[in-house]
Amino acid sequence: MAADPLDEAKTKVADAVDRLADELEKLSLQIHANPELCFKEEKASAWLTGFLEKQGARIERGVGGLPTAFRATVEGTGPGPTVAIMAEYDALPNIGHACGHNVIATAGTGAGAAIAAALGKVPFAGRVQVIGTPAEEGGAGKVKLMEAGVFKGVDAAMMIHGRCGTQVWRPSLGIVKVKCDFFGKASHASSWPWRGVNALNAMIQLFVSLDQMRQQIKPDARVHGIITKGGDQANIIPEHTASEFYLRAPSKDYCQELLRRFEGCAQGAATATGCTVKVTADPIIHDPLKPNFAMATLFGQNLERIDFPVDPDDGEAGYGSTDCGNVSQALPTIHPYIRISPDGIPGHSREFAEWAKSPLARTGMVAGAKALALTALDLLARPDELKRAKEEFERGVGG
Ligand SMILES: [Zn+2]
Ligand SMILES: [Zn+2]
Repeated sequence: MAADPLDEAKTKVADAVDRLADELEKLSLQIHANPELCFKEEKASAWLTGFLEKQGARIERGVGGLPTAFRATVEGTGPGPTVAIMAEYDALPNIGHACGHNVIATAGTGAGAAIAAALGKVPFAGRVQVIGTPAEEGGAGKVKLMEAGVFKGVDAAMMIHGRCGTQVWRPSLGIVKVKCDFFGKASHASSWPWRGVNALNAMIQLFVSLDQMRQQIKPDARVHGIITKGGDQANIIPEHTASEFYLRAPSKDYCQELLRRFEGCAQGAATATGCTVKVTADPIIHDPLKPNFAMATLFGQNLERIDFPVDPDDGEAGYGSTDCGNVSQALPTIHPYIRISPDGIPGHSREFAEWAKSPLARTGMVAGAKALALTALDLLARPDELKRAKEEFERGVGG
């Protein structure tokens, strides 16, 4: 009986991930210890491309006009589809790798590196690419890469994200990002307060109005913001205050509805306090993730093959957002979650940052690398599966 070339390739690649695991973990901890903010991920990008190059992938640095982006290609036997594995590596301000992007980086890189190391060439038509995607936290790097054509010719894309549980599919919310500035008039806060117009009062009024609005919005929507400028000194009536907000919802339409209501709240706060207001919505809107159950099923089967358990969603957490949502609206994409912490540890917390460098994170990273690589091989070796993923994408609904 002839051996199944896909099965053989999968075994070799999974073994290669195990062989590379110590180096990948070292890389993950190095990135964790050197958190770099969006678009400034110079060290991470250099380390990851260096590693991929060493394992035999062809590297292009600075793709799509973003200096910290990259593309690593492992060619197959001839012309055919392109499967992309995405790697994120940016950190958050002050709290470092509290979203665990060091694990995303090394799982994605590990998948591509293991294919290159184990097989040299993909033994099927087409190619696998690891695309290094900067600035997920706040920069919408993937949208910029798409606009620059980096995903042109990609047939299917995938990545993993660390979480307090393993779920092959979980929704994400769309986001409209909005900045709001109030302008008043400076005056002495003690001797001439009645000659000032207080831009901080307007800002506080905006937060109060949004708190009232929150009761009247759909339960899955989110409105949250911070004051980035509250004034200059306590003895000056603030003449300028600034804030930024994320308006999130499961659909883009409802994000627009939130923006409409937000503008009303801001206008009302300005009128009440005699200020003027400027509301600036970011032209880049984050899309919600579009599911692809054909690809998610393959990923789930590969987790089963490597004996990595999938967890029921305990419903304790709401949803976040990702610029991967925009990729998923352009081509068949999956964004599964892999456990790197115990149950109930919130992302963007200091506890999660600790777990992102734990032995559990290593286990999740290794499983993620294997399942990504094996799923990429499935899509190249089994044209029917890729076709099914594409048909589902075209139909526009999850199966
Ligand atoms: Zn995050
Ligand atoms: Zn993240």
